Amino acid sequence: MAEKPEVVVIGAGPAGLTAGWELVKRDVPVTVLEGDSVVGGISRTAQREGWRFDIGGHRFFTKVPEVEALWHEILPDEDFLMRPRSSRIMYNGKLFDYPLRAGNALRGLGVVEAARCILSYFWARVRPPKDQTKFEGWVASRFGWRLYGIFFKTYTEKVWGVPANTIEADWAAQRIKNLSLMNAIMNAVMPKRNQKDIASLIEEFQYPKFGPGMMWETAADKIVDRGGKIVFEEKVRRIHHADGQATGVTTVVTGGYGPGAGAPEPSRTDIGTEHRYEADQIVSSMSFSSLIRVMDPPAPAHVLAAANALSYRDFLTVALVVPESAGFPDNWIYVHSPELQVGRIQNFASWSPFLVKEGRTCLGMEYFVFEGDETWSMPDDDLIALASKELAQLGLVPADQVERGFVVRMPKAYPFYDAHYKKNVDIMRGWLAEVAPNVHPVGRNGMHRYNNQDHSMYTALLTVQNMIDGASHDVWGVNVEEDYHEEVSPGYTSKMSL
Ligand SMILES: Cc1cc2nc3c(=O)[nH]c(=O)nc-3n(C[C@H](O)[C@H](O)[C@H](O)COP(=O)(O)OP(=O)(O)OC[C@H]3O[C@@H](n4cnc5c(N)ncnc54)[C@H](O)[C@@H]3O)c2cc1C
Repeated sequence: MAEKPEVVVIGAGPAGLTAGWELVKRDVPVTVLEGDSVVGGISRTAQREGWRFDIGGHRFFTKVPEVEALWHEILPDEDFLMRPRSSRIMYNGKLFDYPLRAGNALRGLGVVEAARCILSYFWARVRPPKDQTKFEGWVASRFGWRLYGIFFKTYTEKVWGVPANTIEADWAAQRIKNLSLMNAIMNAVMPKRNQKDIASLIEEFQYPKFGPGMMWETAADKIVDRGGKIVFEEKVRRIHHADGQATGVTTVVTGGYGPGAGAPEPSRTDIGTEHRYEADQIVSSMSFSSLIRVMDPPAPAHVLAAANALSYRDFLTVALVVPESAGFPDNWIYVHSPELQVGRIQNFASWSPFLVKEGRTCLGMEYFVFEGDETWSMPDDDLIALASKELAQLGLVPADQVERGFVVRMPKAYPFYDAHYKKNVDIMRGWLAEVAPNVHPVGRNGMHRYNNQDHSMYTALLTVQNMIDGASHDVWGVNVEEDYHEEVSPGYTSKMSL
């Protein structure tokens, strides 16, 4: 291998662009290949008729100092806003604080229901659920069955589209920290103990004033300015390997995913043509399952079976333009009510005043779906009508006040944690390390790991340090400790950042 290897990076989302930026900083020749016509991946900011909105609001928070430093290296400080975090749960026509606060939740439920919840909690202490390896048993053992039913079950089932007793507890453990109802009640009674640092982390977050896309658009410009290449609308179709090394990739020009994914119309005229890129090293943020499927020669049957067994939950947002007065102070509201399909509503004016226009705001009605299912396949106009109707049913905005609507579909938004995903990922990793150790999976779907932007970036940063600086970080060790994520705060009973 030459002293400065030729590197191909697959994907121009947070992980791919971090790799690209770290490589150009080291004067390593790099080509970033992006299937779409925009940067940012799931963290893009969609743009329609001058409106900018996220694929789910994207907070910038991290406990990794290197990532924090990178954010400020890419964007100047004046482009960051510090935003207050506010979110509530809509349940039974009432709004509850979120993260749940014991006092507020129990008061909102009324004396009778609150008493039932507390009794149910003690019952779960006496008779803990037998199976705590699944989401349902894990949460019920910490909050009791009744609170679980009210505040966890419906929303979780909307998000994943499967019964909560089939979802692995891993996901709960990563999202809902080591807290319980008792913990929350104790902290409601004795507030303010050692909470200062953690609470500030929870209650405010950084946000680029034009949305996360601003970070990724700037990162892409910086990479190109330093001599890196970013190729759009080309999807990796084959990764070539021989004699225990990957040697390059072949792409096909797709024309991008188009307006349906919040991107512009295709700009390429050579759709369908193939291009080959030689590489000494490949950093991949394409989904791990697709990566295995495009290996050429192909992976053996048992490895392909493991790749094909990984699954995902997909996502679509219907952005509705409404009068500013119809907005709400929260960044988002979770909708637990089972009779409505919408899972969460963003108010983009609460994220940044730079995202909205004079006198109006944009609400993101979020639907958790499977690619190709009935909701995913509905025509945009029908989705806009459905979202407007549900907004009115929630009592937030009458349907006739909805001025305009835009639909953005995002496949593979969430890697699914089923009972076998770890074993399958291990099989895939093992085989890849044998036949092509110079292919480095990074990021969220790239590693089939529930990584946020910061962890996705961190895996790319560590990979470049391993590849170029001779470091030996365990990249697969990022974001595995159960209690990392956002916060473990006394006084908050739960924390799900979806
Ligand atoms: C609803 C929602 C809300 C979220 N909120 C937050 C939040 O508040 N804060 C936070 O930090 N994170 C949040 N996240 C997570 C964040 O979106 C991801 O962590 C991040 O985008 C992952 O970056 P990535 O580069 O690994 O992957 P991606 O963003 O998925 O980017 C991968 C890129 O690779 C491209 N690609 C895929 N296959 C190919 C191929 N074959 N050839 C070429 N290109 C290809 C894709 O087009 C894409 O651009 C949220 C995610 C969701 C779904």
